[in-house]
Amino acid sequence: MDVFLEVNIMDIKNKVVWVTGAASGIGRATAEMFFQKGAKLLGTDIQEELGKEVVAQFGERGLFIKADVTSTEESQKAIAAAKGKWGSIDILINCAGYTRTYPVVTQDGPGPLEPFVKEINIDLIGAYDVARLAGFEMTKNKPNDLGERGAIIQIASMAAITSNSLISGYATAKAGLVHLTDILACAYADYGIRCNCILPGYIRTAITESPEQNPFIDISKDIDFNLFPKKVGEPDVIASACVFMVENTYINKTGLKVDAGFKLRS
Ligand code: NAP
Repeated sequence: MDVFLEVNIMDIKNKVVWVTGAASGIGRATAEMFFQKGAKLLGTDIQEELGKEVVAQFGERGLFIKADVTSTEESQKAIAAAKGKWGSIDILINCAGYTRTYPVVTQDGPGPLEPFVKEINIDLIGAYDVARLAGFEMTKNKPNDLGERGAIIQIASMAAITSNSLISGYATAKAGLVHLTDILACAYADYGIRCNCILPGYIRTAITESPEQNPFIDISKDIDFNLFPKKVGEPDVIASACVFMVENTYINKTGLKVDAGFKLRS
């Protein structure tokens, strides 16, 4: 058996890439970057109008389906539509995400339970469900010469490892997602499917621009960009990391921090 692997690049051209959360921010930038590499794009999101607008740029290589990651039925419909058009799902980039800021405790009583539950439902259970459904579709793909059938990237967060108490459900869900990445990589290994995750730092999107969603809105007070570059990232810094992790076949069961080495002050 030849046990040595040289640099091996998964060819993205003509692959069917499913991007959840494709209407906005990191998902949008990722869909656009994979399109530039020649992929066919299934974009899903709960934001229908914006999602359609994004995918319209891709012409015949684009398909938008409104689908909530917490609905197995809607995800299945999206998969069926993409398979009807192109015959397979080859790559999943799971970008859909939800967060709210709320306390664990106040002087008047315990904090609310509802946003914690919603974050776990979308950011962890929803992320598992889309990976579970897409991963199964990938098992049916014809393997390439290396035996590879597909690749999954989960967008986790640096909140998985460094957080504050105002985003308890989100941070907990993202920590779970990092661990889940390991489990999925093991589960899909025999089928030639890799699973990795990315832990973005502070990226300029709708989430970071909204005080309702982001506890670190005052960047100069909350975030220490003490290394290089001392800058907030644009969504395409994460999109390009997705492309790199999909293309490089030797990257599996890995969580990649993409945060310019930032530190939270609070
Ligand atoms: P974004 O611009 O708000 O994009 C997220 C998209 O997901 C939005 O269109 C959102 O719709 C959609 N969405 C929310 N709930 C959904 C659901 N249940 N099913 C399907 N789509 C849903 O935010 P972003 O920053 O690009 O976030 C993308 C991913 O990166 C998220 O997983 C986020 O946790 C992660 N992340 C972001 C940062 C950052 O600094 N921006 C850092 C670390 C991790 P609505 O706008 O209607 O909610």
